[in-house]
Amino acid sequence: MVSKPPVGDPVQDAPQVTPPQHAAAGLPAIGHTLRIAQEQMGLRRTARTLLKVNQKDGFDCPGCAWPEGDKRHVAEFCENGAKAVAEEATLRRVTPEFFAAHPLADLADRSGYWLGQQGRITQPMLLPEGGDRYEPVTWERAFAIVAEELRALGSPDEALFYTSGRTSNEAAFLLQLFAREFGTNNLPDCSNMCHESSGSALTETIGIGKGSVSLEDLHRADLIIVAGQNPGTNHPRMLSALEKAKAGGAKIISVNPLPEAGLERFKNPQTPQGMLKGAALNDLFLQIRIGGDQALFRLLNKLVLETAGAVDEEFVREHTHGYEEFVAAAGEADWDETLAATGLDRSEIERALEMVLASERTVVCWAMGLTQHKHSVPTIREVVNFLLLRGNIGRPGAGVCPVRGHSNVQGDRTMGIFERPAPAFLDALDKEFGIVSPRRHGFDVVRSIQALRDGEAKVFFAMGGNFVGATPDTEVTEAAMRRARLTVHVSTKLNRSHAVTGTRALILPTLGRTDKDVQAGGKQFVTVEDSMSLVHASRGNLPPASPHLLSEPAIVARMARAVLGDGSATPWEEFEADYATIRDRIARVVPGFEDFNARLAADPGGFRLPHGPRDERRFPTKTGKANFTAAPVEYPRVPKGRLLLQTLRSHDQYNTTIYGLDDRYRGIKGGRRVVLVHPEDAAALGFADGAYADLVSEWTDGSERRAPGFRVVHYPTSRGCAAAYYPETNVLVPLESTADVSNTPASKSVIVRLEESASA
Ligand code: SF4
Repeated sequence: MVSKPPVGDPVQDAPQVTPPQHAAAGLPAIGHTLRIAQEQMGLRRTARTLLKVNQKDGFDCPGCAWPEGDKRHVAEFCENGAKAVAEEATLRRVTPEFFAAHPLADLADRSGYWLGQQGRITQPMLLPEGGDRYEPVTWERAFAIVAEELRALGSPDEALFYTSGRTSNEAAFLLQLFAREFGTNNLPDCSNMCHESSGSALTETIGIGKGSVSLEDLHRADLIIVAGQNPGTNHPRMLSALEKAKAGGAKIISVNPLPEAGLERFKNPQTPQGMLKGAALNDLFLQIRIGGDQALFRLLNKLVLETAGAVDEEFVREHTHGYEEFVAAAGEADWDETLAATGLDRSEIERALEMVLASERTVVCWAMGLTQHKHSVPTIREVVNFLLLRGNIGRPGAGVCPVRGHSNVQGDRTMGIFERPAPAFLDALDKEFGIVSPRRHGFDVVRSIQALRDGEAKVFFAMGGNFVGATPDTEVTEAAMRRARLTVHVSTKLNRSHAVTGTRALILPTLGRTDKDVQAGGKQFVTVEDSMSLVHASRGNLPPASPHLLSEPAIVARMARAVLGDGSATPWEEFEADYATIRDRIARVVPGFEDFNARLAADPGGFRLPHGPRDERRFPTKTGKANFTAAPVEYPRVPKGRLLLQTLRSHDQYNTTIYGLDDRYRGIKGGRRVVLVHPEDAAALGFADGAYADLVSEWTDGSERRAPGFRVVHYPTSRGCAAAYYPETNVLVPLESTADVSNTPASKSVIVRLEESASA
């Protein structure tokens, strides 16, 4: 029976703690999937929806960006994918009556979990200047308000157009086109907060900011290193690929400050054997110290260089640049200091070396554990050094694999959602549309918050996402957002960002992936690009959650017409009526999309975008070669009596969307304000298991930030390291604490002290 949304806010946060688990998925995953699907959609809709997700004639999962194989299973989804689908296809509704009953102040007091559980927003809503609650507004009036505010700006650069990774290629292409025709490159996106460090490091070293492996490569690899990633929760179907690779003889090394159940054993629900016994994954678990990954790969590289015949000399000679400088830098690395930075023993590194030397096809996979540190870009460069040394780029079964966390975050960037666009892209765009795009770079996420804080930006527009929930320095960010003249959110469901508004605010409810999309030109589909550069279609099959919704492309097209008026020669109406016309333009502007519509029609499974390093060992870098780099080894230095905290997701969470209050694999139930600390560290700091502590972060400028009332959980973390969930701990991350080069918030290495908590 479909359950009603929670009335009271269940986030009383009294977490129950049991020992962590050592296996992922299995029967419990099926149980949780069916329970949540049933609660949100009921039985018939559950079947109708889950049997279409990730199918060639179905819709793309709005969860992470893990690819599908050519052969699809009947159930081509994981537990967390099903949760994402269930919450979007929920039968719960947020109506104008809901907003009448819940003033802004009430919404601001609610937890993210409670807001998200209320259901799909059914009508456009306006928070008028001086008003205390949202009121219904017509779409025409809403676009008129947007036009009014944008036209009143002193410069187009006072506007910000944020994109979350759920935005389709078609909507993303239109949004960047609109922003540039309007006159700004202020196109921050969620990639700025997640894989920007990967993009920066890979573009410099191999010439393209994307992973170079396909699913088939992962299956063919004989060594897979999974670093700074927890696939069991964040990319669950990756476990099937790891299981398949293991069955093919591959070895797996996981590098993580936390032991994660999903890397220990995978109980694959697709097979009875898998469901009951499962497959061990890890061959070696390196419980690294937070931020110690660059040091680890530097030591492995040092040992490879010292091992006769271990370097692929021919590959290095023919395809790389900067080898000598790198060899010199590796030679200078002090063993003891570098080893200490890893928190590992020499024997563990030597064990890993044996596996590296025995491998002919190595893939390194990573996620936020590598990208959200001050030194993330040098760390990922060192991973590339590691793969170049033995020619593991552009060889089947080998390569780089940054695993994207949002279903179309890579596609949005490919479509031009980037504050630092390549001149060639703008040239092609201007030629195609007869516009003059601005060439000065725009604001990324952190720079956007600073601009709002400092009054440089006055209008904030978000295509999906939960900006204030996802960003660092919560108090600073929320205060900055409240300085805006207008905040606009294109959303499917409620979240914190709807409660933290500018002087005026608009909520523009849109179709979800599961919704059928019919325009003047008939039934429409959109496209997405997964983590391995495969572009494919997504077709919703459910009646829209409300007759008042507009699709993402329609919202952008109508906003553009309202703002740009008759002065724009861009065929916005045509684009709204038939998305194939958008794809025809994409085909002429974005390399790799030639004959876009025809190729989609020819193969429902989609097509893979070209990738020079993968396809032909062609490296479009400044040197025309793959670049070795020789950066000094960096790692966080933590004062005595302090801990290094990483912010992370629970298993009942997807980005800032909270599906539930449990973190099953880590043994946490019914609460989220927990901090995982090594028992010996906790004892040394005077905190028993179950005690309550305030987390206080200390920043280089002497400023401090406090997150009160966390239950201390004695947990097998690496020594000196702690972990707690975001968004609850985003308040601890200073806005200025970012990665060099990529400016990504350094949310994975926050120096904190624990203080006895008054509020247990
Ligand atoms: S692995 Fe990712 S994309 Fe696939 S079903 Fe799960 S959440 Fe969705």
